Amino acid sequence: MTSRRFECTRCQRCCARPGQVEFSAPEAFLAASFLQLPLAELTEAYMQPEGDGWIIDVDEGSPCPFLGKDGCVIHSVKPSQCRTYPFWPELIDEPGAWQAEAAWCEGIGQGPVYDDDAIAAILNGEGDTFENDSEPS
Ligand code: SF4
Ligand code: SF4
Repeated sequence: MTSRRFECTRCQRCCARPGQVEFSAPEAFLAASFLQLPLAELTEAYMQPEGDGWIIDVDEGSPCPFLGKDGCVIHSVKPSQCRTYPFWPELIDEPGAWQAEAAWCEGIGQGPVYDDDAIAAILNGEGDTFENDSEPS
């Protein structure tokens, strides 16, 4: 039985952290539709091809281009990587990884408890964090 506490404080640190934001092809299409842009325009401006999908390289000092002042501007269609954070299997399953991730994400260890079922639902796309159920993050 795994249970984890998490409550997003909307600190936006995860969206500014250096790394890669991954979009499957359908996720990139959805983001483009949501922004009312042609897919090619969106990918040309922000993304690089990776496998069957796309990635955004986020560098130090240059947050994800979809981070607006009030949070993610594509919140309702943000990719699975973002929607499921911080409940990534590698953070849940690897000993110590969840605690270590708290150095990046101040919401880890705070707020409501997510049990195995809630985490599985989030990862399967059948559920959401309590924050995502309501407001942008
Ligand atoms: S998920 Fe964590 S790092 Fe990202 S905005 Fe919420 S509290 Fe901050
Ligand atoms: S797509 Fe949205 S949630 Fe994901 S990193 Fe960019 S701003 Fe953050």
